Amino acid sequence: NLTSLDLTSRGIAELRAAHEDVRRRYQAFAERKLKLNLTRGKPSSKQLDLCNELLSLPGGDYMAGAVDTRNYGELQGLPELRAQLAPIFGVSPDRVILGDNASLALMHDAVVYSMLKGTVDSDKPWSRESRIAFLCPVPGYDRHFSICAQFGIEMIPVPMLDTGPDMAVVEQLVASDPQIKGMWCVPKYSNPCGTVYSHETIERLAKMPAAARDFRLFWDNAYAVHHLTHEHIEITNIDEACARHGHPNRAFIFGSTSKVTFAGAGVGLFAGSKDNVAWYLKQMSMRTIGGDKVNQLRHVRLFNTNGGVAALMDRHREILAPKFEQVLKTFEQHLGDSGVARWTRPKGGYFISLEVLDGCAKRVVQLAKEAGVELTPAGATHPLGKDAQDRFIRIAPSFPELPEVTQAAEGVAVCVLLAATEKLLQ
Ligand code: PLP
Repeated sequence: NLTSLDLTSRGIAELRAAHEDVRRRYQAFAERKLKLNLTRGKPSSKQLDLCNELLSLPGGDYMAGAVDTRNYGELQGLPELRAQLAPIFGVSPDRVILGDNASLALMHDAVVYSMLKGTVDSDKPWSRESRIAFLCPVPGYDRHFSICAQFGIEMIPVPMLDTGPDMAVVEQLVASDPQIKGMWCVPKYSNPCGTVYSHETIERLAKMPAAARDFRLFWDNAYAVHHLTHEHIEITNIDEACARHGHPNRAFIFGSTSKVTFAGAGVGLFAGSKDNVAWYLKQMSMRTIGGDKVNQLRHVRLFNTNGGVAALMDRHREILAPKFEQVLKTFEQHLGDSGVARWTRPKGGYFISLEVLDGCAKRVVQLAKEAGVELTPAGATHPLGKDAQDRFIRIAPSFPELPEVTQAAEGVAVCVLLAATEKLLQ
């Protein structure tokens, strides 16, 4: 196998031969005229089927204790569901607010409320500042960046390390620039790297001095219970850490049941300090008289009868883990010793991050598309879609069935090799 040795240390003749070999493999793959898609970080139909019981809940009994779930009210959400979800996010149930199906909507609203009204620690609304900036660990989640772009918030990329964002960079920036008001954080099994923030990282985020008194961590714990292995990693409690270091209001915590029950009909949540929760409820009370309590009650009953969230997540893992293993195995087989790619081996979450040679990510995505494999656009993992080094590709194996995942991963591997030999021959 001509590509089983480090391509970056080959002579020209050997590289040309490797290139020809890979080109033939690429052609053969393209001729299969497959239609594969690795762009969608969403649950597969089999995963959604795990919760089909929701479709017949709550049954005829729509009362949650004394609360008639069909009616207005209970702005903060049903106490029973808050009690079930609160421990996952490390706060008490009185400091949880249930929203509608998308936590993204709650993040969007938290930004809007801060812009138009200011936070509990702001002297004035953020929109009255000359400039607002957020730190954006990269690679990161494109929809976080879209919220910033939408409201004219400057995005400052910060490199991700194996332990989370590069804290030396974060501390320096946050301490020196009072216009930095926020930072996006996906602390567990991050999108797309699968990174878990270390204890030290979380302590430093909670403790670091901020030039802006109203600096906020947008703590998007979207993958809190989404383990891919039997090792159920727990992270340091951000709410406690912030309180302990004298910054009780620093963290806005977000989460949802999108990838626990139904991605389109789950329950989103906001959590935080007593003051942050009162602040959020006040803004929210202008927007709604109460959320979808029928859905909240359906969730309570589903969790009560199915062994709770953890048991459900085990069943998700059984479906998801083989797909991730297949991608990793295929990459290892085809790219393992090639020296032209590396990738993350996540222990949870929904993504694998593939890193190719500088300047090759766009080309890989294009080659893959032409051969029938749809990938997330290169650059999507960076603010404004700009990955300056053009090296990161997000792989989402959750949605297709296992045979398609296998074929798609093979196709991607061949595209990576082809783009690399093209580049090395330039
Ligand atoms: N946050 C992260 C990091 C995500 O990856 C996703 C979905 O891919 C979301 C939030 C969306 O969550 P929700 O469905 O609760 O809006």
